[in-house]
Amino acid sequence: MHADSLIHARWVIPVEPANRILEHHAIAIEKGRITTILPSHEAREQIGADTVMELPDHALIPGLINAHTHTPMSLFRGMADDIPLMDWLNKHIWPAEQRWINAEFVADGSRLAMAEMIRSGTTCFNDMYFFPDITGKIALETGIRAVLGMILIDFPSAWASDADGYLERALALHDSFRNETTVKAIFAPHAPYSVSDEPLLRVRTLANELDLPIHMHVHETRDEIEQSRKQYGMRPLSRLRQLGLTGPNLIAVHMTQLQDDEIDAYATSGGHVVHCPESNLKLASGFCPVARLLDAGINVALGTDGAASNNDLDMLGEMQTAALLGKGSAGDPEALPATQVLQMATINGARALGLDGDIGSLQSGKAADITAIDLGRIETLPVFDPVSQIVYSAGREQVSHVWVNGELLLADGELTRIDTARLMADIRVWQGKLEEKS
Ligand SMILES: [Zn+2]
Repeated sequence: MHADSLIHARWVIPVEPANRILEHHAIAIEKGRITTILPSHEAREQIGADTVMELPDHALIPGLINAHTHTPMSLFRGMADDIPLMDWLNKHIWPAEQRWINAEFVADGSRLAMAEMIRSGTTCFNDMYFFPDITGKIALETGIRAVLGMILIDFPSAWASDADGYLERALALHDSFRNETTVKAIFAPHAPYSVSDEPLLRVRTLANELDLPIHMHVHETRDEIEQSRKQYGMRPLSRLRQLGLTGPNLIAVHMTQLQDDEIDAYATSGGHVVHCPESNLKLASGFCPVARLLDAGINVALGTDGAASNNDLDMLGEMQTAALLGKGSAGDPEALPATQVLQMATINGARALGLDGDIGSLQSGKAADITAIDLGRIETLPVFDPVSQIVYSAGREQVSHVWVNGELLLADGELTRIDTARLMADIRVWQGKLEEKS
């Protein structure tokens, strides 16, 4: 049997089927897809591969899926810290965006974010920002898998001036990436507090017609709930339900403010939740009741949010935070075990994005989106349980190799498609410009 490449590893953690760890196994890849996973000694006898890689101390996991981020905002990393969400947005982020956002900013910010994500084992991200066409172009250039948000917000920006403009650009974006295998576009109305009823109804209609997910910040802070009660006489989730936006297409990000009846109703609707623990902690937005959501049968994925409110795009770190915070806030050390958190960072993200037929687990037939983590280091020895080491002990510098669609994007810690020195020089130029203003 022939394969384009064959990767031997100490451990293969497929995530699905759940709770399985394969030792001394190999993954065969042909035309970007996993063709088979089998014991290494059998692979050596049966498979002739063009390239063979030996990873004797490594675990192979499905590429991590960052289910909520704002990639270009990496250029705002560390610009305004230690303040509440609405001050952060109103006094810092939104004014900076009014002044700086253009195609060039988005190109360089996105490339910075993608470099960081690939280096930390992320192979797919779900984005929400202005100029998503540029982020999509940079994703094709860097090779990472991207889900672009067709952004919609009530105020004008350099990307569009009103609802008509945002929706026109949204549909053009969807069309221009419809034949790509690694980049697709979905709806991304910013939040209930920043998008009014009429444009939301139009999103609902279009999302139903095109059968596309709707990616939105929902119930992020207590202020959001209060403002909605004053303005609309109801909580944001009730309003979204009345507008017909809740359902299996909704990807609700944050969800820190939830009543029991809302959890039950959301579970019945089949909607997805993206948990962003570090952003919620940093902005003191509240605590997403992840253990209760999972118990109710809700699909919960994991995201970093943007680097301006995290301040990194490190999904290994995010898994650790999610596990620890999940236990602490549930008052239960058995809540959110490591295997479940790894599912949140992989297959659950794929499911939320409607990509679970293609990615999210290591199984034959799926795309070869794979992350290798070197556990043979001081920091992660001894290895009794590789999943435990990955979630609780490993740092992102232990990510050694990353493949997307069978292509090696990180080889021995080095980016294969991105010119690191040039990227860093470009970002330093941006730092000078952004400092000049403030
Ligand atoms: Zn966000």
